[in-house]
This record gives sequence, C-alpha cells and structure tokens, in this order.
Amino acid sequence: MRIDDLPIRDDLRGQTPYGAPQLDVAVRLNTNENSYPLPDDVVEAIGKAVQGELRDLNRYPDRDAMALRTVLADYLGHGLSPANVWAANGSNEVQQQLLQAFGGPGRKALGFGPSYSMHPLLALGTGTDWIGALRDPDFGLDPVAAVAQIEEHDPDLVFLCSPNNPTGTALDPEVIAAVLDRARGVVIVDEAYAEFARAGTPSALTLLPEHPRLIVSRTMSKAFGFAGGRLGYFAAHPAVVEAVQLVRLPYHLSALTQAAARAAVAQRDALLATVEAIKEQRDRIVDTLRERGYRVADSDANFVLFAVSPGEASGNQKVTWQRLLDRGVLIRDVGLPGWLRVTAGTPAETDAFLEALG
Ligand code: PMP
Repeated sequence: MRIDDLPIRDDLRGQTPYGAPQLDVAVRLNTNENSYPLPDDVVEAIGKAVQGELRDLNRYPDRDAMALRTVLADYLGHGLSPANVWAANGSNEVQQQLLQAFGGPGRKALGFGPSYSMHPLLALGTGTDWIGALRDPDFGLDPVAAVAQIEEHDPDLVFLCSPNNPTGTALDPEVIAAVLDRARGVVIVDEAYAEFARAGTPSALTLLPEHPRLIVSRTMSKAFGFAGGRLGYFAAHPAVVEAVQLVRLPYHLSALTQAAARAAVAQRDALLATVEAIKEQRDRIVDTLRERGYRVADSDANFVLFAVSPGEASGNQKVTWQRLLDRGVLIRDVGLPGWLRVTAGTPAETDAFLEALG
C-alpha cells in the first residue's frame, strides 16, 4: 500500500516531509546545531536533575511548566515574567501551537521567503493557508515592501525570522514595528539564532511592551547546544500564553524534559560559552569566502549562505553539495538556486569545510 491509497487529507497528498539528511559523515554542518558537546559538569548537573524526577514518573508533570517558564523569563530579562513565557518541545512545536490557536482552516499565514522551510509546513499541517511573500533581492526586508505585501493579503499570522534562516539576515526592529502597525493578526518573530547576533543587532524582545500581538519565538536547540533536549519557548503578552493553553496537549512537556531544560538554563554560562567561539568561525567563513571571491550574505546567525560560483549566483549548488559530501563535509542545499548554507562549528570543522570547498 502507498500513502496515496490511504484516506489521507487531500491537502497532504503529494507533499514531502521535512527532511534534512541525517548522514553519518565526519563533518556535519547542515542543520545549524551547536557542534560542541555539553561540558562534563553540565552533563552531571542535567543527569542529577533528571535522576531526581525518576521516582515520580508515575505522576503527570506540571502541565504549565511553571518552574521552567520562571527560569526562561529570568534568562530573557526585559522585565518578562513567567506569565509572558510559554515552552514546548522545540520552537517547531511552539509555532505549531500558535498556528493551532491563531490559524487553522479559513485563515492565512504569511512569511517572507527565502526563510525557514518549516513555517509553511506547519501552516499546511494545521490547515492554515500559506502566503509566500518575498524578501528583497539582498535578503533584507524593506518596510514599505513588507507592509505592501501584508496589506495585499491581510493575513491572520505573519512570520518574520530574525536572524533569518537560511540567509543569516537580521531585521531592524523598525521593520518589525512597521509590520506590527499594519498587520491585523499576530506577528511571530522567530529568533532561533538570536544569541549569535553581532554586536548592535537588537532583539524584537525590546518591542514587546508596546505590541501585545507580537510573539518572539526562541529555542534552546542552537546557542544552548540542547537540540536533542527539544525545548523551544516564546515570549508574548500573557493573553497569548492563555490562547495556546487552549490547544496544547495536556502534559506536552515531559517531567524529564522540564527538569533537563531547567538544569541547562541554570548552567547557561557554561553552555553559552561556545557562542563567541562559534561567531568567530562564522566570521572566519564569511571573510575567507569573500576573499576567495564568493558572494556571501551577511550573517547574524551560526551559519553562512554563499553563492557556489565565485562572483555570481548561477552555479549549480547540487554539484558543489555532492562534491563536499564526497569529501566528508555535509552542508545544506536549502533549495535556493545557486546558493548553499554551511553551519559554523568548531575551528577544525571550518578548516575541513574551507579545504573541501577549495
Ligand atoms: N526556527 C528556525 C529559524 C530554525 O532554523 C529552527 C531549526 N532549524 C527552528 C526554528 C526549530 O528549532 P527547534 O524546533 O529545534 O527549536
């Protein structure tokens, strides 16, 4: 039997699942993970925290994850309290819950491509129409062009991504404020990579007090090196938190996840210590590729988007991607003709990538 023989929803027929290759190669720079394993003392602290939950696994966990939301609010600062914060299994689940609460059949979500490929897939899965608006040719977002596209489509949800995956481009808070002023619905700013921003690139968190329909989505998957732990969260007006509580599954965050994440946030100095080293490698990749004549997008994230043919964006990225893989270096073809994305990891991984590309 094939999938199409099943009585599956019509709008899912012919679709392909999200599928970044998970290949067992030496240098994996394709999913923007943090390349550094957790330090031993953090491993020990998380282990103890998880151990402390085991006897009580006969009981359901705290449905509202209050202790975790308290430490996350404290981490974010900006005067936020636990009532402003909501957590789920990765920011993918956070955004799915937002679509369940604010999107759904008969409603529209709009995002500016090229951007994170899961945004339209999450819309699809929740029966929300997706409108693929466009960023500027340099991957930035001009406020006038952004507002015009929002006025044309009048979406119920707007997705902004800053720093944007896959381009690395950060948005000026003025652009976000312009979108908020014109959009009727909620505006989600996906800040999965916020901790890697260059000095002087502000977070949309600064806009929260003035904008009750703004939702800032964050994750522990990147800077915290906690991708396997699955913990995403958002900051917003407390009413937004109440709205997602209408659609979340009861006990969606296991007691083990909550305990591990709390311990990881408590160890944040040790975990975030890798961020500066990763930013150095990011800047090294940008500078080296530019010296070699490649076109490279500015990056405020832990990855770099570059045009595969030095000097122009017309080369066939699939060929370059395969050649790098043949040399044991896995990077990402994001489906943008002529461009490839590489994650910034350890110095040795940068060496391997730059050598293989050369
Ligand atoms: N948002 C963006 C922009 C991302 O790039 C990613 C990870 N690729 C996510 C969200 C999802 O991260 P997670 O579900 O692990 O929090």
